[in-house]
Amino acid sequence: MNNCTNHPEKKALSICHVCKKEFCELCLVEGREYYYCKNPECQKIFQQELEINNVPQSVICPKCDSELELTAEETKTGKTHCPECEAVIDFTCDPPKVLEDEQYQEILRSLNQGDIGIIESILEDGNIDYFVLGEHFLSVRPLLEPVRIFINAKQLKEAEELLKDFEPKIFGFSSRQDEDFE
Ligand SMILES: [Zn+2]
Ligand SMILES: [Zn+2]
Ligand SMILES: [Zn+2]
Repeated sequence: MNNCTNHPEKKALSICHVCKKEFCELCLVEGREYYYCKNPECQKIFQQELEINNVPQSVICPKCDSELELTAEETKTGKTHCPECEAVIDFTCDPPKVLEDEQYQEILRSLNQGDIGIIESILEDGNIDYFVLGEHFLSVRPLLEPVRIFINAKQLKEAEELLKDFEPKIFGFSSRQDEDFE
């Protein structure tokens, strides 16, 4: 290790993960795995690394202590469902909290990935508090299990209104598969 890039008289502690220059402890910020220097460009990448790491990949169910793997979809909406105890968990807060059952209502199950995507964007545009259980964005094969969409029960009327033009049978079980439209 040579001397610090900024302080020629000080011995370098490590290198910046981004620019690979050597720096002393005053000039470095410790990340989860690497050091970063205070150069704005390097800090930007350091901040991005922090954000990625702040998204949990799994959560512990606060009710029954099961460890739950999160899908990309769940990571996006910040909520998941525990298959062991049926709790709905909000993990955007620390520690994660259990949402009371009656707060969310399942409005739809669907095997149709296109439908789900459209419904999600309608709900997002309408500022409806919703979450989706099950994976669909990363799925390259037909869905084997229906994706379930839950919405905040307080917004049920609102959501019905928003979705009423979309598909008449939306508030029921929709099991139709993707037709082969390309
Ligand atoms: Zn750097
Ligand atoms: Zn230095
Ligand atoms: Zn649980």
